[in-house]
Amino acid sequence: MGKKVFVERAVVDSILSYAQMFHPRESILLLKGKIDKKKIVVTDVQIPPLATHGSTFSGFPLSRLPIDFSVIGVAHSHPSGALRPSVTDLNKFYGRIMLITAYPYQSEQNIIILDRKGKPLKYAVI
Ligand SMILES: [Zn+2]
Repeated sequence: MGKKVFVERAVVDSILSYAQMFHPRESILLLKGKIDKKKIVVTDVQIPPLATHGSTFSGFPLSRLPIDFSVIGVAHSHPSGALRPSVTDLNKFYGRIMLITAYPYQSEQNIIILDRKGKPLKYAVI
């Protein structure tokens, strides 16, 4: 059994509105938070340095990221509406969790969180 995942309400709102703003392009945000033995808590988002908002996730220069241990994963949007990871997404996994929000980005119904293996994780909004 994996760790429990919690996402602060303000983080969910930021991710949804950021995705809406960039639609139909793909948006990317870094997820910041805390990890302990039992849980992962996402408390903040950060606009990645040098992010390019192209139509694919490949526009994200992961190699240019500063080393920052409060970054626990990456959120990005799927303007196509597909609420599942692509092969590229899984190959580019960064951090502990990946969050995907799919069009129309209205609520947490349009968000999934995945582990490194691409398995959806249950999460709670707090
Ligand atoms: Zn993707």
